[in-house]
Amino acid sequence: MRKFAYLVPKTLDQAVSLHQSHGNRAMYVAGGTDVMVKVKSGKITPDYLISLKHALGSPQLRVNSDTGELHIGSLVTHRTLETSSTIKRHYPILHDAVQHIGSVQIRNVATIGGNLVNAVPSADGAIPLIALDAVAKVYAGTGERTVDLIHFFEGPGQTVLAPGEILTEIVVPKQPAPSAGAYQKYGRREAMELPLIGVGVQLSLEQGSNRCTKARIALGVAAPTPMRSLAAEHYLVGKEITEETLGEAGKLAADESRVRDSVRGLAWYRREMVEVFVKRMGMKCLERIKEMGA
Ligand SMILES: Cc1cc2nc3c(=O)[nH]c(=O)nc-3n(C[C@H](O)[C@H](O)[C@H](O)COP(=O)(O)OP(=O)(O)OC[C@H]3O[C@@H](n4cnc5c(N)ncnc54)[C@H](O)[C@@H]3O)c2cc1C
Repeated sequence: MRKFAYLVPKTLDQAVSLHQSHGNRAMYVAGGTDVMVKVKSGKITPDYLISLKHALGSPQLRVNSDTGELHIGSLVTHRTLETSSTIKRHYPILHDAVQHIGSVQIRNVATIGGNLVNAVPSADGAIPLIALDAVAKVYAGTGERTVDLIHFFEGPGQTVLAPGEILTEIVVPKQPAPSAGAYQKYGRREAMELPLIGVGVQLSLEQGSNRCTKARIALGVAAPTPMRSLAAEHYLVGKEITEETLGEAGKLAADESRVRDSVRGLAWYRREMVEVFVKRMGMKCLERIKEMGA
């Protein structure tokens, strides 16, 4: 393995200025589960790895009691999300996703921020957060800017982050009650596997009825970047959520997807799985809302 210097700045400003002074010979590292695989294979050859561990401070996962927003620090690990009772109870779509990322060993160190910035079309963290209308907070050296997560990804491995910018936090707005979501990573195996398709559905209903007031349908590996099926979402709003309406939404999402053939699966099969899992995840949302007693 090629040698590199490991730098540990104490503040965000120090991290940004180190990145600026070393240019494209430097790279940030959080948990290192993506970075180190690429370094070891020689796919990337940074001279400097800049750790964000100290600069970002201790990872925070908290609900703002005034606004009801969920704040997820970018260094929060998948394991922290998986074992959080708040995530399991109030954000089941995110819980569904993180519990199947890699193995426990990977989830113990891999961060949600690294998962988003790595920006592979199969990133399991991205789909539930997009379905939850999350926003990314980015430190740009001169201040902070926010980006809707759906606009964060520009292509495989590419985000809107400019060189040296740091993803500091992900903020999930309070969801209208009653709401629930569900995510399915579908692959040949559930664990240690890149999915053929990832489907996240988040539904809000009118109190005491099955009429949909808000729908989010987010898809992974269905396009070069994570995407939402606006046609399916638009179709569902105002309708009773039933197997029939969810089936129709599944068809619309499958039509809107831009799946392609790859060694792991053919486009026609992926499209069919989008249809199947939009319906299945929608029914799971309904079940979950009922379990909450709404
Ligand atoms: C065996 C194995 C199994 C895996 N299984 C899955 C899986 O099932 N699903 C899945 O989605 N992923 C999987 N992954 C990929 C990986 O674990 C995740 O993407 C992980 O969340 C990356 O987080 P990290 O902290 O390790 O990122 P790192 O490797 O530290 O960084 C990844 C990228 O993000 C950048 N970066 C990190 N944090 C920041 C920040 N705050 N601001 C700016 N840039 C930043 C780095 O410069 C780098 O480009 C797997 C990886 C391995 C090795």
